[in-house]
Amino acid sequence: MRRKIVAGNWKMNKNVIEAQQLMIQLLGYKNENKTNCEVWIAPPSLYLMMAKDIFEKDEIGVFSQDMSEYESGAYTGEISANMLESIDVSGSLIGHSERRQYHGETDESCNKKVKLALDKGLIPVYCNGETLDQRKAEQHLDVVKNQTETALFTLSAEEIKKVVIAYEPVWAIGTGETATPEQAQEIHAHIRNTIAEKYGKEVAEEISILYGGSVKPDNAKEIFSQPDIDGGLIGGAALKLEDFSKIIEAFN
Ligand code: PGA
Repeated sequence: MRRKIVAGNWKMNKNVIEAQQLMIQLLGYKNENKTNCEVWIAPPSLYLMMAKDIFEKDEIGVFSQDMSEYESGAYTGEISANMLESIDVSGSLIGHSERRQYHGETDESCNKKVKLALDKGLIPVYCNGETLDQRKAEQHLDVVKNQTETALFTLSAEEIKKVVIAYEPVWAIGTGETATPEQAQEIHAHIRNTIAEKYGKEVAEEISILYGGSVKPDNAKEIFSQPDIDGGLIGGAALKLEDFSKIIEAFN
């Protein structure tokens, strides 16, 4: 059985008081409800240590939104895998489309980050997905295959099994437009096949692939019911417990 995950990407939202409030609400929710999936959050890095204090029994997995491709040194503003390991977070998002768009992230840099994360025992949540132009030009299958190969195929079979992939079509992020469950399933199966071609079916079957892009309480169940979709990476709808909890419950 692959792990089922609902992960909230808070992006650059919430001041410290608001962040603390939502974390405390989430803790209460988690303590009172049995969930059929793991629940993870990726708050702004400034709040990671607070999150680790609040979720002291690992009720909720705590993830960074990004990490450096370098190990340490003169990289002002960056956060290293080593630092994340030292505060005991579970892992990091890597290659989110907003990092690619505004901060020059590439699959080559993602490859370095994934490797560094794994070396420190962190779970890399590697994000990929095509743009609207690429989808219109019917290049989406090739784009996602290339992204997956460039970022992940230097890993050993044992390493790649520890990676979580989040397929997030860029045109569906924060736009209110969602891939249909069939469109998402097509790409998820394609990513799994791409991995199976190199590492074998058994390895590919173990890897959780999340869908991201305008997942909401009213579409989560249908998306998560697809055979190759193992959960979601949620942006806007992760910012309120009311919405996020309904998405978590789509697994019930
Ligand atoms: P969204 O964001 O749910 O607001 O579309 C998803 C993401 O970017 O991870």
